[in-house]
Amino acid sequence: MALDQSQQRMLVEWMDSKKIRTDCPACGTPDSWTPGDIVAAPISRPDGLHVGREVNPMVEIICGNCGHIRFFAALPIGIYKKERRGKEHCDAGSRAGAGENKNSKPYTISL
Ligand SMILES: [Zn+2]
Repeated sequence: MALDQSQQRMLVEWMDSKKIRTDCPACGTPDSWTPGDIVAAPISRPDGLHVGREVNPMVEIICGNCGHIRFFAALPIGIYKKERRGKEHCDAGSRAGAGENKNSKPYTISL
């Protein structure tokens, strides 16, 4: 999900407050970044990774020169609220229209 204006402003203010370096760690280009999307990664559990279970929301920071992407946890920044998860179908059992039903098991990713 792309950041709206309010989320972009919140991200910039958070980066300033934490003194996050704005030069790219890959190519060194100064101040050439843009906010990307809010993305999510599955959380590894003892029984593996399962699509449809709780995820870690992260925000992308993308270098405008080389395309290097950095990720920051979205919850501590405040640009993603836990109560929004159900509405955005990030929790198991709330994936309406995703081809799953209550009796289906989450997909398992073997690593
Ligand atoms: Zn770069």
